[in-house]
Amino acid sequence: MFCSVTSAQTPALKPRIDKLAEGLEKKVVAWRRDFHQHPELGNREFQTAAKVAAHLQALGMEVKVNVAKTGVVGVLKGGKPGPVVALRADMDGLPVTERVNLPFKSDVRTEYNGQQTGVMHACGHDTHVAMLMGAAEVLASVKNDLRGTVKFIFQPAEEGPPAGEEGGAQLMVKEGVLDSPKVDAIFGLHINSQTEVGTIKYRPGATMAAVDSYAIKIKGKQTHGASPWAGVDPIVTASQIVMGLQTIVSRNLPLTDNAAVVTVGAIHGGIRQNIIPEEVNMIGTIRSLDANMQKTIHRRIGEIATNIAESAGAKADVSIEIMYPITYNDPKLTDQMAPTLEALAGKDNVRLTPAQTGAEDFSFYQQKVPGFFYFLGGMSKGKKLEDAAPHHTPDFQIDESCFVLGMKSLCHLTVDYMEQRTKVASR
Ligand SMILES: [Zn+2]
Ligand SMILES: [Zn+2]
Repeated sequence: MFCSVTSAQTPALKPRIDKLAEGLEKKVVAWRRDFHQHPELGNREFQTAAKVAAHLQALGMEVKVNVAKTGVVGVLKGGKPGPVVALRADMDGLPVTERVNLPFKSDVRTEYNGQQTGVMHACGHDTHVAMLMGAAEVLASVKNDLRGTVKFIFQPAEEGPPAGEEGGAQLMVKEGVLDSPKVDAIFGLHINSQTEVGTIKYRPGATMAAVDSYAIKIKGKQTHGASPWAGVDPIVTASQIVMGLQTIVSRNLPLTDNAAVVTVGAIHGGIRQNIIPEEVNMIGTIRSLDANMQKTIHRRIGEIATNIAESAGAKADVSIEIMYPITYNDPKLTDQMAPTLEALAGKDNVRLTPAQTGAEDFSFYQQKVPGFFYFLGGMSKGKKLEDAAPHHTPDFQIDESCFVLGMKSLCHLTVDYMEQRTKVASR
């Protein structure tokens, strides 16, 4: 419905956009290879950001740099009045040593958390940057016909800032990236190494999980390992708590509504075979796709840990750190924009995807303004799924033939949203 309205209003705009995007393919591939060969970790994307800023400046945009450390924001004012649409790409690489033999393979090495490691764009953020630079060039070329403003957001540290630093989308929002001009809607995509080129996947509502971490400190009473009755054993207590935590998802949550995960990731306690230690510390991660379920998990972790500890004569201190919110695709906006993707990629190639228990800091933008986040297939056609390495692994690889569709999707969403909004406003 929306598409027909759009094409009637600006008959020439989308074909022009498509032609421009196709013409930019080689340039976008070259950018991507350059970024791929020179990956930078979160909050350290200095070279990447400099290249992005130079490109946006050359397109005649008003450009802000050093937003949330290394972020770059470009504002493109269209020739006609209308809403402000934000498009977002993330720029950071990961501490992963690349194993794929590509001519533009990364040889970058660094120290991370005290260990030597390679640095690699093992999540495909290099492709996001290159495609958004391409989309910026396309939209700048047709700016006189744009009914509104486009804000290009290149953000650092999606994978999380280094310990002790702020960063990522949360800091971008804190520094006002969604204000002046105020953003009406935000779009973002993520490449996917295990979805075929030509396919786009999305989900209305909760799409990726909220992440929280928790820490439990169990205090017992130290004693000789040969006479446990003389103390309070925090190791046995911790073991009971681990088992107790398993009942949260299996016994306390309405599982037909949404998935959830409670994982214990580490337990530390003790130093020697014949000493029962004073204290055990454990940490873990929580994933949830529903705010009420999230609350229940937090409450139950506290109840289970403190009550089991009490029953053993020990004491448990529980702390929960709220990290990433749920990546939540505004249902109205998703309904409104899905036809745009279907018209572009073909109805059969646009599919609903199950919710994921991984997280995305795009969620911080969506907490403030309606947002739509979708997945772009980047696996070579005909490749077997078992041969396609997952994200964050040394063999991760992307087929570059998906870039044109990626660029077009960002541009089509932008112009369709603008057309729809100005149409509604003039009614
Ligand atoms: Zn990632
Ligand atoms: Zn990612």
